[in-house]
This record gives sequence, structure tokens and C-alpha cells, in this order.
Amino acid sequence: MVNKPTGNNRYLKELNQASIMELIRIKGKLSRKELSELTGLSRTACGNITRKLIDDGFLHETGQGESTGGRKPVMLEIRPDSYYAAGFDIGMTKLQAVVADISGRIIIEKNTEYELGISVEEAVLLADKQLREIIKERKINREKFLGCAFSVPGIVDRSTDKIVMAPNLSWNHVDLSAKAAEILKMPVYIENEAMCSAICEHWIGKCRNIGNFVCINVDSGIGAGVFINGALFRGTGGSAGEIGHLVVDENGCACGCGNNGCLETYASVRYMLQQANEKILEGYGSKYVKLGTRIEWDELVDYAQKGDSLCLGILRDSAKFLGYAAAYIINTLNPEAVVLGKCFKQYSSLVIDVLVETAMKKALPYPASKAAIMVSDYGMNSSALGAAMIPIRKVFGK
Ligand SMILES: [Zn+2]
Repeated sequence: MVNKPTGNNRYLKELNQASIMELIRIKGKLSRKELSELTGLSRTACGNITRKLIDDGFLHETGQGESTGGRKPVMLEIRPDSYYAAGFDIGMTKLQAVVADISGRIIIEKNTEYELGISVEEAVLLADKQLREIIKERKINREKFLGCAFSVPGIVDRSTDKIVMAPNLSWNHVDLSAKAAEILKMPVYIENEAMCSAICEHWIGKCRNIGNFVCINVDSGIGAGVFINGALFRGTGGSAGEIGHLVVDENGCACGCGNNGCLETYASVRYMLQQANEKILEGYGSKYVKLGTRIEWDELVDYAQKGDSLCLGILRDSAKFLGYAAAYIINTLNPEAVVLGKCFKQYSSLVIDVLVETAMKKALPYPASKAAIMVSDYGMNSSALGAAMIPIRKVFGK
């Protein structure tokens, strides 16, 4: 993060405030007395902290709770619409912006498409433009933003916050966060896209009460976000979760990383589409696929749903390889859940049986019996949403 001290940021440093916020978030609403009991802080200390949180708009009083003898206590809850955060997911040809409020509610989503080869500066300027439009449309006070975060399809070095590499964007050793902080004038965070999706699953998605899980994103590439004991696991240099380059067949086709037969070359959107178009070029045609045409991703999924054998076959074969990856993860990390997201959601119903069957067959029975394989509810929105949750989570001490 690029440090720009603001009134909001000072809050984040106050552990007691953060733990009070977190308790209220988890329980929904609590009285001052309950907060005092749960935190071990004195009633006076709790009163002072909650007064400040109410004054600053984070909390509000709501109705009255159940009496345990004597006066009914006033309950406190998080005030929705009090503060906001923006998340930007930088894709190969699309910037997706999401604004959420402090309660995790999505206020608005905006997509802007662009040509391949966007530069760091162009991406930041586009994000700034999207945010200005959202602020204007929704009449949100800019001062109410806790910050913003960028989800990038690449490796982020946590010690410098620079992007080490984002191959699909052809970005190497670039400093997006400094540029963004200068233009957007608010605290800026940067995170790998699969890690953003994992944050989304953990904060508002299927893994809210799960400490150990892995989120696999199927997109133009394949990546994973790993949560261990309730915290994101980044590894030594920030590159944990690069499962797209697990070699699943050493005699397979060449991958952009220099190896052969990486998972990505079987199960990423880019390679599945490439396979389909090669077969069509070689003369495949059907009721849906016209001879000699080129199909796009949405068509591939649509034709597979209608029963086209080539398209359905490619998706189902890819699911077998994702099943291998899930089995490796289950054996290595013994997670409670493996969640598949991003583009996978579009075609999950056509292939989930193959994936689960392969994963359960290839993983050891003991860890396999503990792991649930799930599909994300958020699909393509999970990275932008997870990014928006990053500044919000800071308020709760995460
Ligand atoms: Zn590779």
C-alpha cells in the first residue's frame, strides 16, 4: 500500500476500534454491555470507542435489544452507506470497476473494454475515469472512500508493492500503486487477481466461515488464491498459487512460461478457445459451428450447452485436468474447500461431475473426505469485488 495518512487511516491503526467493528460485523448487532464483555474492555472504554465510531459514521444505534433485567439496551450496528471502497479488476481487454459499501453491499459495477496492450498509465487513468463517473452518478462524497484496490493478473511483490510480471498484459516490473495513488488521491492497494477472488469468497462468498480453502480462477490464465488459518497465504515472494503452471502432461503443448503441458494449456479459456478454433480450421462443423468460422468464448460455452460435441468435449476434457489440480491441492494443503470461479461459473453445470469425480479419485481418501468442491457465486465479478473488500477489511483489522 502507498501510505497517505488520512483521518480514516488513523482509525485502522486502533486495534480496539477494529476489534469492536469486527465483533459487530460478525454478530450483526451488539449492545455496549455485550461489547464490554466480549472484548474485556471496561464499559467506559467501550463507551468512548463506540461514541467515536458513531461520530465518524461507522456505527449507528438501532432499536433496542432484549432486556436481561432492567433497562433494554440500545444496540449498535454497522452503518451501511457510511463508507465506500472501489475495486478494479484489470483484464486483458476489460477493466471492471466495483464500488461496495462498508457492509460489503455492492453499489455499482462498471465495465470498460479496450484493445489488447493497455499500459499502466492508461489503466490508471481509465480507473480514475470510471470512479469519477460512479461518484457523479451515485452522488457519493469522495471523502467517504476508504481507498481502492487493483486486482492484477500477475505476481505482486509484497515488499515493494510492484508488479513483478503480468504476462497477459505484457507488464514487467511496473509500479502501478504509486501511479494510482498519485492520480486517484486515496489509499491504493494492489493484489493478485486470484488472491482477490479468495478475499471475496472469504469476506462475502461461500467461504465466510472457512479458514482453510483454495479458490481456483479459470480465466485467460489459471491461478489460485490460498487461505490458511483464515489468512491469505502469499508465499515468500508473493507468487503462491500459480497453479496454472503445474505440469499435467510433460509431452503436452508449449506454454508461455517455457514448459510443456502446463494446466493452463488444457484448461484456461485462451487455450480451450484455441483448441476449438484449430479443430474448426481443420474442417469441424456442426449444426451450431459453421465451417471455416472462428468462434469466441461465449459461443463456445453456448454451443456446448446446446450439445455441440466439439465444444462440450473441450470443456469436459479441461475439467478432468482441473480435477487433477484440485487433487494436488487437496493432498498438499488438506483444505476444507476448493472453490472454482471466474469463467468456470459459466459452464460449471456441464462439467462439475467430471471435475469432482477426478479430484476425488486422484486425491488420497482421507483429505478428499474433508474437502468440499464448490462453484463461486460471483463468477467474473469476484476479483473486482475482492479488491473492493481490501480497504474495507482494514477497518476490521484484517
Ligand atoms: Zn506454463
